[in-house]
Amino acid sequence: MTNELQITRTINGQTYSFALTERELEDAYRLKERRYREDDFVNAFADAAQEPDMRFHYGHLAEFPELLDWLCRLYDDIFDANTSHNDLMELALNRLRDESLTPGFFTSLALLAPPVCEEPEEAPPEYEECGRHHCGQNITEADERRKRWEMLASLLTRHKEADCTCHGKNGTHAPCAAAKYLNGEWDISEFFFLQDRKDV
Ligand SMILES: [Zn+2]
Repeated sequence: MTNELQITRTINGQTYSFALTERELEDAYRLKERRYREDDFVNAFADAAQEPDMRFHYGHLAEFPELLDWLCRLYDDIFDANTSHNDLMELALNRLRDESLTPGFFTSLALLAPPVCEEPEEAPPEYEECGRHHCGQNITEADERRKRWEMLASLLTRHKEADCTCHGKNGTHAPCAAAKYLNGEWDISEFFFLQDRKDV
């Protein structure tokens, strides 16, 4: 026997009845839970972004949807029924603080680069609301974002391996982009929109 939820709706005077399977109910529940989690992180970020050792500011959440995705996935990974929600949130933000200084962090963001929908001839209203999936933009954007995150991961790796201008590469001793980011001189936007890597 399967459990189903019967739903009746009256739309334009017509009564419609449909049933949600247990699986569909579970999916709907997970989606809702995920939305709450995102809202919680957005709120927590308003405070966390004020701290000097945080590499992100509030606006980055909208600019880089990968970030919120990373936080929500981490929350699920570290979830423990004996730890309070607030402690888990704090733990996740602390991890973000530490891991955002490592190449591996940028590699994971590359994997999370949002899927892109092809622009429909006439965009239905939900496309306009759906900023997080980059609806209505060309498919190349996700590839571009992926490449960009991968490039940043490699800049950090090269800096760690002393293969950068900080260490006299190309005869200069100017701080490389990764060093500027690590020192907090650059925030992620400057780092992300880096035009070329010749200066590394
Ligand atoms: Zn360097």
